[in-house]
Formats: sequence, C-alpha cells, structure tokens
Amino acid sequence: AVHELFLELAIGPYAEPGRFTFVDVVRRYWYWFVLGVAALALMAAMVTWVLRLNQALKRAKLGLERRYELILNSVGEGIYGVDLAGRSTFANKATERITGWRADELLGRSQHDMLHHTKADGSAHPREECMVYQTMQDGQPRHVEDLFWRKDGTSFPVEYTAAPIKDLKGETVGAVVVFRDVTERRRLEEDERQRQSELAHVARLSTMGEMATTIAHELNQPLSAISNYTSACVRMIDAGMRGDAELLKALHLVGNQSQRAGDIIRRIRNFIRKAGPAPEQVDINDLVREVVSLVGPEAGKQSIAIDLQLDDALPRIPAHAIEIEQVTLNLTRNAIEAMGDEGEELNGSRDLQIRTWAPDERSIQVSVRDRGHGLRDSAVKRVFTPFFTTKSTGMGLGLSISQRIIESHGGKLWATPNEDHGATFHFSLPTADVARD
Ligand code: ADP
Repeated sequence: AVHELFLELAIGPYAEPGRFTFVDVVRRYWYWFVLGVAALALMAAMVTWVLRLNQALKRAKLGLERRYELILNSVGEGIYGVDLAGRSTFANKATERITGWRADELLGRSQHDMLHHTKADGSAHPREECMVYQTMQDGQPRHVEDLFWRKDGTSFPVEYTAAPIKDLKGETVGAVVVFRDVTERRRLEEDERQRQSELAHVARLSTMGEMATTIAHELNQPLSAISNYTSACVRMIDAGMRGDAELLKALHLVGNQSQRAGDIIRRIRNFIRKAGPAPEQVDINDLVREVVSLVGPEAGKQSIAIDLQLDDALPRIPAHAIEIEQVTLNLTRNAIEAMGDEGEELNGSRDLQIRTWAPDERSIQVSVRDRGHGLRDSAVKRVFTPFFTTKSTGMGLGLSISQRIIESHGGKLWATPNEDHGATFHFSLPTADVARD
C-alpha cells in the first residue's frame, strides 16, 4: 500500500493509477534513481569532508593554542591578561613561579588586589593609580617600575609593560601585562653604586692628603693667633688688669680665632665623610661657597682671584651634596693648577670664575672658567679617561670620578676650550630626581 501511494505521488499526474507497477516505474525512470543515489553519495562525501575539515581545524586550533601556551610558559617573564574589569584572564607559568599564586587562583580575580595592592612605603595602592587600568582606559602601552606582592605576603621590585588588547573593531577589551623580577638587577646596581661611592671616598681622602700642607698652614694661623692673644691676656692679668675692656677684647679675639679653626676642621670633616645613601635637597650656591673656602688659601698663595657669579634664584636640587662638592673641588683645583704654571704673561688677569645658572627649567649648570694653559681640541674628551694626566704627581682619576658622579646624578660633565685663554669645565644637574633609581 505504501508503494502504491508512492507511485501515486511520483507519477500520478502522468499516468493512470493502477496501471504501473513499481518495477515499471524503475524501468522507466531508472536514471532518476541513479541521479538520486549519486546525489546522496555526493552529499555523504561532502558531509564527511566537512567533518574531516572540522576535525583538522580543531586539531590546528589546539596545536596553535598549545604552541602559544608553550611560548607563554617558556619565557622567563611573567605574562598575564586582564579584562576590562581588571580580572585575570590568563597567567603563564612564570607568573606562577614568581608570584607564588597558581594560575587557577588568579583567574577571574582582580589582578590589582592580588599583585600590586600596596606601595613600597606600606600605604595602599589605589586602583585608579594602577597603570594597567590606565592603559585600558586610554589604550596607550606603558612601561613602569613598581612593586609586586607574592602569595606569601612578601614583595619584590618589578619592571612591567602593560599593553592594551584590542578586538577586531580596534576597541580595547583588556590588557596584557609582561613583568620581570628586577631584584637581582637592583642589587647589582646597588653594588656598583657602593663601589663608586667607595672610590669617590678614597679620592676625597687623597685630595685632602694633597691639600694637607695648605690646610695645616691655614689652621696654623688661628692657632698662633690664639696663642698670641692668650699670652697677651696672661701678661695683662700679671700686670693686675682684671675685668678691663682691653682684656675682654683680647678674649673675644681668642674666641673668634678658635671659631675660625673650628670652621676649618668642620669643613674638612664634612668633606671626607662618606656620602649618605639618599640624596638630599642641595643648594648649589652654598656648596660652591664651601668649596671656595676650602681652596681659598691655595688660590691666595698663587694670587688667583676667585670671581663668583652665583644665580640666587636657583632651585634646590636632589643630590649627594658631598659628591657634588667633590666634583666642584676637583674642577676648581684643576683650574688653579692649570694657572699655576701659566701666568706672568696674563698681565694680572689671573681670575678663576665660578658661575651657577639655569640653562632651562629642568636643570642647573655650574661652569668653572680658568685662564690656565687650556685644552687642545683632542684633549677635550681625553681628559675624562681614567689615568690620563699631564701632572708629575697626578693620578688622572679626578675627572673620570667626577664624570661618573655627575652621570649617576642624571647630569653631564664636559669641557670646552676658551676662545682667548684657558678652559672651562661645566656640569649640569637635573632639578628633579631622575638619579640612580
Ligand atoms: P689629575 O689632576 O690627577 O691629573 P684629573 O682627572 O683631574 O687628574 O685631570 C686629568 C688631566 O686633565 C690633567 O692632568 C690635565 O692635563 C687636564 N686638565 C684638567 N683640568 C684642566 C684645566 N682646567 N685646564 C687644562 N687642563 C686640565
């Protein structure tokens, strides 16, 4: 009955019902059957092909994912992703190793609250200040130095880059953070800084050694004055003068002279002390004046006049005062020494000018100009190489140490020959702290 119905439907419009059997239909329309079977076979083939293709794509996708995972997990830097709400979306093995958190503990939770919630001084690090959020807001990549926290509550210094993740339309949908533990690098920098500071200290001691004769001479003056005044006092008392104005005046003079001797000793002690670890806010003009008092006697002996051109409006700068003083002293003493063998033909213009000024808003500059034997063009750079000296007793270290000190403060030290006579040494220092760290 079913095949009757089928026949009815298939050929109904063309034939009288009941006259054709199923075999007749097949005989007459066999090519339709062949076509149908062929179409079915084709469809089956296509379906299998699509299924195979699908499987191959899945395998390729899996392979690609594995490869990404392999790459992510084989790099030394910690890498993790965050969505717009700041929740971690992935984290590689290095993130686990460095932070102590497992990836599945980080996933879906706020990366800021888990990894950089607190600042170095112990205060809370608000989310609004978090560079990762800022990168997601403006789509700009950032490179930052910060502090990250481990699962066990300890912290470590990091350097990290936050880059936006954008979708096909170019809209930011999250960020990827690549970070590196820089504890070891910081330690090496600190060691280097320590070594440099020790070298500078040794150089200061040796400078004082060189200046010992003039210092002893300078110290001798107030001491012998004190000795003279006290002998005078004794004589006055012997002569029965008590409470006399003359006697009081002599005692005042004794006091002044001991103050002067005390000042000399304080300056020397200040100069040879070790530089502290943290920079201070330094008034460069005070520091220049201090140097001038140290070299005053040496300059005086050679009848060199020191001309100070100090700009009083200069801002204080973050620096290790003692080290900058050392640089200024080196330059000033070099200038005095350069004028030492020069001179008579200068017709009395044996002046040494120290000038402080601000070439722009972000830096201050000190220039020490002498009228000595000067520098040849070829020497302008060479004088800064260690052990370069033209002096019989020189070590050739002063300028190279000075250059390192200035550079470690984020500044520059250089020399220029003067147009007429002598040389000028300049150094500039930034007014904001870009030094060392
Ligand atoms: P030292 O003073 O022990 O020689 P420095 O590093 O301070 O070491 O100086 C290196 C050399 O640079 C000096 O020997 C000198 O030849 C040259 N120099 C330094 N300052 C001046 C200057 N103001 N004028 C000319 N030459 C200078």
